[in-house]
Amino acid sequence: SKTKENKYTIAVVPGDGIGTEVMDATISVLNELDIEFNYIYAEAGDACLEKTGSALPQETLDIVRDADACLFGAAGETAADVIVKLRQEMKMFANLRPVKAYPNTNSLSEDIDFMIVRENTEGLYIADKEEFTDDGATAKRVITREAEERIIDYAFQYAKDNNKSKVTGVHKANVLKKSDGLFKEIFYEVGERYPDIEKEDFYVDATAMYLITQPESFEVIVTTNLFGDILSDEGAGLVGGLGLIPSANIGNYGALFEPVHGSAPDIAGKGIANPIAMMLSAVMMLRYLGESESAQKLDNAILKLLTEAKVLTGDLGGNATTNDVANEIIKLLR
Ligand code: ATP
Ligand code: MG
Repeated sequence: SKTKENKYTIAVVPGDGIGTEVMDATISVLNELDIEFNYIYAEAGDACLEKTGSALPQETLDIVRDADACLFGAAGETAADVIVKLRQEMKMFANLRPVKAYPNTNSLSEDIDFMIVRENTEGLYIADKEEFTDDGATAKRVITREAEERIIDYAFQYAKDNNKSKVTGVHKANVLKKSDGLFKEIFYEVGERYPDIEKEDFYVDATAMYLITQPESFEVIVTTNLFGDILSDEGAGLVGGLGLIPSANIGNYGALFEPVHGSAPDIAGKGIANPIAMMLSAVMMLRYLGESESAQKLDNAILKLLTEAKVLTGDLGGNATTNDVANEIIKLLR
């Protein structure tokens, strides 16, 4: 066998339900690449809570923090707690959601291929900024120079590293004049460091429409927490199908890659889950690790599988099993 080149330690957290099934399939595919991975398995989620009394034990946190990257499957009922805690622990400030059309899937157009970069530490989503008042309740929206500069710079750097020619800043500065006025100002300030990259900015409401009317025009979108959350799911709808959508959480202490879908208890244990969202999460991990050649190789194999449309799981109209898909990808990689 070939000598494998770079070596990485990967925290593997399969979690619950189909998480374990799509993770097994993905690891078998990663083992075909010319990279040596040292996998360290760790527990989290519902079954882990049942067994250990904690949905996210300290040991798992330590493993994730010490690894070069983390592959995460799914957590059932405990998903929100697990991911929120991981986010805080690892100071994961960026959520990345690619919106890419693959053939023979339910996408609005064939030429959709952009990345949504969402700020993940402030904005409207900080629980302790919400409070009851005599009349009802209020939530506070926080925009700091530090966090917005960090996310905007990340988006421009991502564009540069991935040969994207344009970054779109999304805000509502016409109404939120101070907070999103600041976001827009920082967007163009940071943009000056990237003279070769085109910059544009849109209001979030207009963006919601443009995603439907001209989705092909976007390359990288950067936006604040709430807007990013909403546009990410709109993006998922554009390219159809939970079984295909990966995500990344990038932090100061590492990065975590996971499919957007959950543990899918309705199909868990049957071996019929689509492993492609998990495999595409691994593609994102490879890009993050700087292994762009291997990332491209795996991405191409997935593209080929979807183009041929012979080995597809039930959610894509086929009758293949999770293992059938993994074996076909392995064949395509060889
Ligand atoms: P959880 O409580 O863990 O979020 P859920 O029931 O909300 O689980 P999701 O994983 O969010 O389930 O999925 C919603 C629907 O999409 C389910 O019917 C599920 O079977 C289907 N689905 C999700 N992921 C996949 C996949 N990878 N392959 C096939 N079907 C999937
Ligand atoms: Mg769900």
